[in-house]
Order: sequence, then C-alpha cells, then structure tokens
Amino acid sequence: MSDRYLELSHTPFGKALASLLGLPQPPRLKRASGPWAQQPLIGVPALVGATTNAQFVAPLLKALTEAGATLRIQPEHVGLPLIKAAAQKLGVTLAGNPAKGSGDAPSALYVVDASGLANPAQIRELYDFLQPVTGGIPANGRVLILSRAPSEAGDAAHVASATALRGFIRALGKEVGKKGITANLLEVQTGAEDWLAGPLRFFLSEHSAFISGQVLPVGAGPREEPIALSGSLQGKVALVTGAARGIGASIAETLAREGATIIGMDHPSAEGGLAETMARIGGVGLALDVTAKDAAQRIAEEANKKFGGLDIVVHNAGVTRDKMLRNMAPHLWDMVLDINFGAILRINEGLLKDGLKDGARMVCISSIGGISGNAGQTNYAATKAGIIGYASSMASTMARHGGAINAVAPGFIETAMTAQMPVGPREVGRRLSSLGQGGMPIDIAEAVTFFASHAAGGINGQTLRVCGQNFMGA
Ligand code: NAD
Repeated sequence: MSDRYLELSHTPFGKALASLLGLPQPPRLKRASGPWAQQPLIGVPALVGATTNAQFVAPLLKALTEAGATLRIQPEHVGLPLIKAAAQKLGVTLAGNPAKGSGDAPSALYVVDASGLANPAQIRELYDFLQPVTGGIPANGRVLILSRAPSEAGDAAHVASATALRGFIRALGKEVGKKGITANLLEVQTGAEDWLAGPLRFFLSEHSAFISGQVLPVGAGPREEPIALSGSLQGKVALVTGAARGIGASIAETLAREGATIIGMDHPSAEGGLAETMARIGGVGLALDVTAKDAAQRIAEEANKKFGGLDIVVHNAGVTRDKMLRNMAPHLWDMVLDINFGAILRINEGLLKDGLKDGARMVCISSIGGISGNAGQTNYAATKAGIIGYASSMASTMARHGGAINAVAPGFIETAMTAQMPVGPREVGRRLSSLGQGGMPIDIAEAVTFFASHAAGGINGQTLRVCGQNFMGA
C-alpha cells in the first residue's frame, strides 16, 4: 500500500500546496537497499563527543573506525581530553568539524558518550555539544547517545541524570524527525563495552531508518566473541510464522538476504502466498496453523529432520478482530488471544524441549497498540502487551542456552492489515509520528534481522519500538 500524500508532497505542485496550507511534508527516508556488509553506516563523517568522566569513549571510537567512519571533534569541547587520549591509544586520526559554508560535507552522525553524567548541572555538557550543530544535521542523519544504565548509575543524582537523557532523546527525536533524522539512546550496562559495536552500527545505518526516540538497554552478551555486523546469518536456520505476506514475508526475505535458510510457516488458507514467498527466497514452506495443538512438534520435526534444529525463531503471525469490549463476542476474544499470544507460549514450550539449537535467538512481534492501547482493541492490546512481558521474563531462560529473546513493537506499517483501516484513522496513524509517515514491512524486518543476529548479543528481554516515534504510547 503506498502513501499517496507523501508522494504528492514531493512534487513541485504538492510542495507548494503543502507550504501554502501549512500541511506536513514528510521526509523521504533513506533505507538500505542491500545486505549489511555492503552498507554499514550512513555517510562517514561522525562527530564524536563525550561528557566528563565518560566511560565508553575507547570502545566507541574503536567501533566507529572499524565501521569505516572518519572521526571529527568539536574544538573546546569538555570531553576532548578523553577523546584525544583514546584516539591516540587506538592510533586513530581526529579532524575538526567543518565550519558552515566551508564546502566540506557536514557530519552525518552525531555520537555522544554521556555515560559520566553525575548531576543535573553536567547535562549542560550535552547541550553545549549538540546545541550548536543540531540545526546543521543533514537529512537522514543520526544522533546516538550512550548513557550508563540508570539502574547501575549509582546515587540518586547519577540515576536521575542518566534518566534525564530519556526525556532529552525523545524530545530531540520529535524536533529532528521532519528531516528524516533519527535520535536514539543506548543505555550501557556493566560489562557491555565489547557488545556496543553491533548496536552502534545498526542505529547509525540505513537499516534503522524508521526507529527514533527509542531507549535500548545493552548488556553483556553470551560466551561467544561479539561481532559488529548483523549480516552474518550464513548457515543459520530461521522459522518465521505468518510468512506468506506483509511483515512476515519481508522478515523472511531479509533474513534470507543475510544468508539464513528459512522455514516459512503460515495458515493452510495462505498456502499459495506462502509457496510464492518461499520460492522467491529458496525457503521451505510449512502450511500450519500456529494454534494447532501439535504445532511445536510439527515445527521441530521439520527443522530437526531437514536442518538439525532452529537457530532463529520469529513469532510474527497475528490477527486483529476489533470491537469495543461491550460488543466483543467471546469467539473474537479467544481467537486473538490464542493466535497472537497463547500459541507463542505453547510453541516455545515445545521448542525449548526439542527443536532449538544452542544459542538460539527469538524475536516476537508486539505492537505499539500493546503499549498505548486503542479503543476497540482490548483483545489485541492484551496480547501485544503480554508479549512484552513474556520476552522480558524469558530472557534468562534463553540466556542459559547462550541465546536471547526480544520483541519488536511496530507502529503504523503499510500492509494489508492497515490498508483495511478507515481513511481517517489511517491518515492519523501515519502522520502522528516524528517522521510523519507509516513504516514499511522492511523496517520491521531490518530490526528483527538485527535482533536475530549475534551482533545484538548484548540485547536480551527488550522491546524495541519501530514506529517512526509514533505519538501513540509515546
Ligand atoms: P498480515 O495480516 O498482512 O499478515 C499476517 C500473517 O499471519 C498472514 O500471512 C496470516 O495468514 C498469518 N496468520 C494469521 N493467523 C495465523 C495462524 N493462525 N496460523 C498461522 N499464520 C497465521 O499482518 P501484518 O501487518 O503483516 O502483521 C504482522 C505482525 O505484525 C502481526 O503480529 C501484527 O499484529 C503485527 N503488527 C502489525 C502492524 C501494522 O501496522 N501492519 C502494527 C503493529 C503490529
């Protein structure tokens, strides 16, 4: 489904009309068109900053340079001694940020290590760094801040200062979104330094075009060595439910793009679409209702027999049956609860006994509707909120096997599901976001692919909203 208003607003006539009537002009988002290995970062000049006592400067500079970024610094910035010392140790060159009108390309990436903030007054250091440059960030640029996880920050002033960054990044995202710029925050936990490279690359790349205003905790990963590139799914076997169309088809295609072999599962009524999608990517189709009592056993049989088990499981199949609670028939309640939620728990219970390889990574598709709640969706919202709790609660179980489980909460995404919405709510769903538009299935697929990969090894039990910073449930 295409966004006709966005297309119109980029024609000369549409542009003139939109500015005359004061209508929004949503930006064209720059999305990755190929595998990770080909396009790791957006632009290369990265302006780096650090606040007093910043703790992650060395891993940050190392990850940026290994990703191919050239590093720039601001003169007279408080974190300069820390940055210079780390750069010298790493043998990395630092350049000055070009003055306006100098002819040099502006920096595309703005990365600040704000992990040392100790009190409200020190947050001024972040202001001093970003305030002069924010107006000059080019379209589709990226702002990424690192902070210490508030739960580990120390005394009340440290905790409050780290928490303040959440409000800062959400507000900044709403300011810069009009140019397709995203702003996100990584909260770094103890021992996570080595696991920063993957998340840094994801959030500073074209693979995260529809993610803004988000706060993602990064912890220490499993036993294996960390890696930086998500595109390393060669030899991995992935189950994707609801893979016949929409978001599920895009997830299957994107995991396959990065080298995974796909078992695509969908309801027997969608067998035709499933066969087409699987033929395109060389995957195996499994026509099976997720609510079938023997679903876990049948999945395990298929995966074990053909591939020796699963490395990746993506629970994407989902339905809506919207009615106000007062009008909701019990069968609509039961259906949505069982497909979106009950089936995931049953299938996982079975797969945890038989069907998963060591180090398996799971991703469950939630929804921002599970965070904000929408009238008419008590059933759907309950399932999508339940998934968030489920991912958080299952994290330690998955970690014991060297793996992880995370959730992705899509906002308004252009699929058959949202095409059925009445025009009014559909337009509201698209425009009431920092990026002023709906996302594409590929936006969800890129986030799922990141979580499915060992590059996200330090992320477990988390929920990431991929919603263009939709104002619902903000
Ligand atoms: P879609 O309706 O286009 O696709 C859903 C797929 O799931 C279909 O192929 C369908 O056949 C399959 N499915 C449904 N019931 C099944 C069952 N019992 N067994 C096996 N397969 C079954 O939907 P979509 O928009 O691609 O949504 C995919 C996921 O993303 C869903 O979980 C949905 O709740 C979630 N989501 C979507 C949006 C959006 O804006 N489209 C927003 C938030 C969350």
